[in-house]
Amino acid sequence: MKKLEELLRDNILKLSPYSCARNEYSGHTATVLLDANENPYNNPYNRYPDPLQVELKKMMAKLKGVLPEQICFGNGSDEIIDLLYRCFCRPAVDNVVAIEPTYGMYKVCADINDVQYRPVMLDDKFQIDSEALLKACDDNTKLIWICSPNNPTGNLIDSGEIEKVVNAFDGIVVIDEAYTDFSRAVPFRLKLAKYENIVVLNTMSKAWGCAGIRLGMAFARKEIIDVFNKVKYPYNINVLTQKCAIDALKDSFRVEKWINTIVVERNRMMNAFQMLPICSKVYPTDANFFLAKMDDAQAIYDYLVKNGIIVRNRTNVCMCNNCLRVTIGTRNENNALLAALRQY
Ligand SMILES: *Cc1c(COP(=O)(O)O)cnc(C)c1O
Repeated sequence: MKKLEELLRDNILKLSPYSCARNEYSGHTATVLLDANENPYNNPYNRYPDPLQVELKKMMAKLKGVLPEQICFGNGSDEIIDLLYRCFCRPAVDNVVAIEPTYGMYKVCADINDVQYRPVMLDDKFQIDSEALLKACDDNTKLIWICSPNNPTGNLIDSGEIEKVVNAFDGIVVIDEAYTDFSRAVPFRLKLAKYENIVVLNTMSKAWGCAGIRLGMAFARKEIIDVFNKVKYPYNINVLTQKCAIDALKDSFRVEKWINTIVVERNRMMNAFQMLPICSKVYPTDANFFLAKMDDAQAIYDYLVKNGIIVRNRTNVCMCNNCLRVTIGTRNENNALLAALRQY
């Protein structure tokens, strides 16, 4: 790959970051905090949060099998997605390549940052062609976006093909594994030692049941994480979120149970959809949702909305004509959807 100094924007490389009060003393135990213009009352909310989330990183590192210095937390993965553009992509000069169809935020953040977005179509099995992705790159391609399991298709992307891209590309390959907990595939975060040009995304929003607290994360080698820490807002993860995440991590057994239940329900729902006369195809999935091709997705979607049941209509997404994306809910919620569809 290119050296990090070549890949980063010049202004980011030269940036001297904001130094927050809490960063300047370290290694000492503080008992009197008069450094940050905080109000002394209303503990614990009067205090600024830890800008580097040391305690949370220690726990997350252990759970995820990475080092604390290989983690950067964001206000959802969405913050990290934006951060990647701001660190690596010169507006109106650089470009990124991404699989298509995929998660919509990669393109929205490209547009916001004035970075050209080059979608490369998946094949009819929703798999990537590493050659085609690489062919779409030029000297100014800084990032390649790969989402696996992919949203909205649900399938895992072949890891051999991803590795071909990682080996051949001289920039950063972002591998978004938001749904990895629902899959048995070996996660790419465990391959950080082998590949120095990957950034892997995870989130608390899906398997961990914490979409409301907004906690996403990037795993990458320390040199890349150091850059993210310099560029992100110093207090991007608030006190409530850090506390709630720490509590959630202490009870990972609960998450294991949720995952097992959701996977069992997912298989039941996919079988039931296959039996519906109005469903022509159910696509394979490794996530907590599946994509189904229907007779008339728009009409079925409208009918479900009238019955108070909301699924995601993906009919206007490329290669997803007449497809609905169905998230797995509780057994009761899933049954309500099936009952409605049987009466359609
Ligand atoms: C849901 C999802 C995320 C999670 O985003 P957050 O901002 O962490 O909630 C990230 N990537 C993909 C592909 C997703 O589907």
